[in-house]
Amino acid sequence: MSDKTLFQKIMDREIPASIVYEDDFCCAFNDITPQAPVHVLIVPRKPIPRVGDAVAEDQAQLGALLLAAGKIADQLGVKDRSKGFRIVINHGVDAGETVPHMHVHLLAGRSLSWPPG
Ligand code: 5GP
Repeated sequence: MSDKTLFQKIMDREIPASIVYEDDFCCAFNDITPQAPVHVLIVPRKPIPRVGDAVAEDQAQLGALLLAAGKIADQLGVKDRSKGFRIVINHGVDAGETVPHMHVHLLAGRSLSWPPG
């Protein structure tokens, strides 16, 4: 049986998803249950379980996720400050983590309330 994470299977095209961006460090695809008109998951190729488990050698992977967020926001037309986007990383049960392969949520396309629920 494969021990790949769900998101590795998506990156390897074993499970279908709408991929919007890829580079050497990460892959980004539309969330299957979008919470906003734009809801993209940006996933490091390395299967870091969650952000608090990252180590110093993951620095480039982590930085690449934020750089990708800016590029994807630009690509999807929400980078302009008059629109905007939010990025979210859920770590653990209280935060609502459900998939144990670290990912950044990029949400945009509607006004997002603060503080989050
Ligand atoms: P978390 O709750 O761990 O922060 O976020 C996991 C996200 O993965 C959720 O927003 C959920 O909708 C999304 N998700 C779960 N399974 C799949 C899937 O098979 N394909 C895609 N594209 N997204 C998924």
